[in-house]
Amino acid sequence: MNIGIIGAGQLGRMLALAGYPLGQRFVFVDLDPDAPGAQVGRIIPGHFDDPAALGALAEAVDIVTFDVENVPQDAAEAVAARVPFFPPPAALGAGQDRLTEKRLFAELGIPTAPHAAVDSQAGLEAAVAAVGLPAILKTRRLGYDGRGQLRLETTADLDGAFAALGGVPAILEGFVPFERELSLVGVRSRNGETAFWPLAENSHAHGILRQTRAPWDDAALQALAERHLRALLERFDYVGVLTVEFFLLDGVLLANEMAPRVHNSGHWTIEGAVTSQFENHVRAILGLPLGSTQATGHAAMVNFIGRMPPLDDVLAIEGAHYHDYGKTARPNRKLGHCTVVCATAVERDAALARLAALA
Ligand code: AMP
Repeated sequence: MNIGIIGAGQLGRMLALAGYPLGQRFVFVDLDPDAPGAQVGRIIPGHFDDPAALGALAEAVDIVTFDVENVPQDAAEAVAARVPFFPPPAALGAGQDRLTEKRLFAELGIPTAPHAAVDSQAGLEAAVAAVGLPAILKTRRLGYDGRGQLRLETTADLDGAFAALGGVPAILEGFVPFERELSLVGVRSRNGETAFWPLAENSHAHGILRQTRAPWDDAALQALAERHLRALLERFDYVGVLTVEFFLLDGVLLANEMAPRVHNSGHWTIEGAVTSQFENHVRAILGLPLGSTQATGHAAMVNFIGRMPPLDDVLAIEGAHYHDYGKTARPNRKLGHCTVVCATAVERDAALARLAALA
């Protein structure tokens, strides 16, 4: 099959790398002719909502998926009218607005942080009265990796805060003093088969994922997270990989956000699980049997942000797998990652400490 991917970032590149052994071929749409996908497939130049580029993609391939969350839902629907398109555009749309996403979680019985809509500076003050401080003000749309967010500690921080985020519709979320951040990556195939990887534990800095350790071994939490993810998969008659990021607080999983795609916190599955999130996404959208999501050991993934450490230093760590996305270095840009898989959690944590020192 020829598979079209809207977006040729590292996620698209890793999808293609997983799909080639299955005999699939890949074409991308991206504005940047040197995006990571260019190393592994043809790029049709264009923005994610460019009707000409998306039309050319639909013409060239048998099935379309995406590696970016900001494909407008109506552009996705236009492609879906011409060629099978997964995950469903409705799931894409639901994840694009933090307020409707939280309402969806509430409707499905998935707990979240306390929150309120904010459409003006006066609205912000009312929201703070309802939600309390500290809190985080986030733009409803187009925020990711910590962009479009403002932390509010005291009432003095409210001054000009709505304007500072651009005066766009926003949401105020109570700050969650979480014990851990966990994420669950799951997958549903065209024939309805589902599978879930073990929970992963994530650490962020400045809103950007730095490290993931998996599996996070807690059977009760795993079952709870799977129940939440399954509700979302069923809601959308979903096909492909879906990720939900949670805060763990007092034994409760509060959903922070969902990503209707393969996810950075699932990169460890390339070497750390029987079947990776990338391969299972390809299998799911093609309606092929899903592969086992079992962990093969204790894995840790470290992101390389802003600079790549020397290849030989990383590979000197036994069991380290280096992934260089081939991107130009820029501050705060995800350029690559590395995963180690060890027989025990203790060995994994020792390897992680060495890796983190290089990152
Ligand atoms: P997000 O862009 O919503 O994924 O936020 C990025 C990161 O900021 C999260 O992974 C958390 O580390 C932190 N964060 C976001 N929202 C909250 C919150 N309501 N309470 C505490 N930390 C948060």
